Amino acid sequence: MPTLEMWAWQGSAACRGMDSSVFFAPPDERSEARQGRVEAARRVCARCPVRDACADFALRTQETHGVWGGLTERERAPRRR
Ligand code: SF4
Repeated sequence: MPTLEMWAWQGSAACRGMDSSVFFAPPDERSEARQGRVEAARRVCARCPVRDACADFALRTQETHGVWGGLTERERAPRRR
């Protein structure tokens, strides 16, 4: 079961209150659009004080969608195995 501690880091997230579409791809996203969206997400993550906690959370929970801690789903995939 998720606990409050598990999510506490999100209170300091640089993306807090932002439109989540920067971090999560729409179903029909084209390659160029994906590249621009991911770069925009990475810029936010680069200045985020909880980046490591975010990436760690995504890896531990085997999150399969979105940019977490500056890492795309493709970049996290090898670390999940
Ligand atoms: S690392 Fe990126 S996705 Fe994670 S909380 Fe920070 S800004 Fe949001």
